Amino acid sequence: MAVLVTGGAGYIGSHMVLALLDAGHGEVVVIDDLSTGFAWALPPDVTLVRGDMGDQALVTETIRRHGIDAIAHFAAKIVVPDSVSDPLGYYLNNTVKSRALIEAAVREGVRHVIFSSTAAVYGEPAQVPVPEDLPTNPINPYGRSKLMTEWMLADAAKAHGLTYVALRYFNVAGADPRGRSGQSTPNATHLIKVATQAALGTRSHLEVFGTDYPTPDGSCLRDYIQVSDLADAHLVALNHLRGGGESLTLNCGYGRGYSVLEVIQVVKEVSGRDFEVRLSPRRPGDPSQIIAQADRIRERLGWRPKHDDLRGIVSQALAWEDALARRNQI
Ligand code: UDP
Repeated sequence: MAVLVTGGAGYIGSHMVLALLDAGHGEVVVIDDLSTGFAWALPPDVTLVRGDMGDQALVTETIRRHGIDAIAHFAAKIVVPDSVSDPLGYYLNNTVKSRALIEAAVREGVRHVIFSSTAAVYGEPAQVPVPEDLPTNPINPYGRSKLMTEWMLADAAKAHGLTYVALRYFNVAGADPRGRSGQSTPNATHLIKVATQAALGTRSHLEVFGTDYPTPDGSCLRDYIQVSDLADAHLVALNHLRGGGESLTLNCGYGRGYSVLEVIQVVKEVSGRDFEVRLSPRRPGDPSQIIAQADRIRERLGWRPKHDDLRGIVSQALAWEDALARRNQI
């Protein structure tokens, strides 16, 4: 039995690879086109297939060669504003290529899929915290591109007998506590990444996108989940499926929201650095608040977070950003 990790050289995928290896899960094979990931993010004992997870011939060959029984599917484009300006690119990458991957998996008899879905499927949620059974209503192409893949998986599971867990991520942040991986994309747009860059001076300032939202301080509220905790959620999902468990769709968050302004304050405190913050207009496609109702994953999979602490998340992100800055100077 071997696990294929699509997008395993990327931010969350590389933490999944570490989690699989740390747990002694046997062979781990990564397929990644290295468009945003890095080969150096992978430990040496991992097989990297450099290519497109939507290339059925390559995926089929990889499944056969390594005896893949489960796929953890991370490879995707993930920047909400980019999905607004390039919707068809997002539907190609996230939906059309996922269809090709799932079809190859079904044909080759792969038993299980763990899918990186997103809280963006809820759109501007009618209820906060958001339970999994709230009707989905994505408000941007990114969320729609992911929701369509959830639907494909559900339908393919019914028709073809594979089982899957779709994990709806809230805002993923932080880095491996042992410093082995982190968010390495140079032009990443995610708040904690950008704020740590501003604190370290690799970015001149930070913009707050919108201070007129209907929230206590006017900036958006998000539920930040630490990346190794999220990788652990995939591990317990894999064990669940391999043990014969049913398909599930589960929120991955801590169930608590922080505003953009609160996050900035924590980054300033933890780093001990002040930096320029500009108040800017809203960014297209941003819901005002997304916070998980987070108990189902605990009940169904027995997942227990170990790193539920914003200051700790920020300090890991700072350490990783600092290491990256040094690496880039070499
Ligand atoms: N955000 C911000 N400035 C930035 C990056 C993000 O104000 O430089 C805000 C963004 O508008 C949203 C929140 O931070 O309200 C989280 O955005 P992020 O891109 O990190 O994740 P998303 O929620 O879009 O997946």
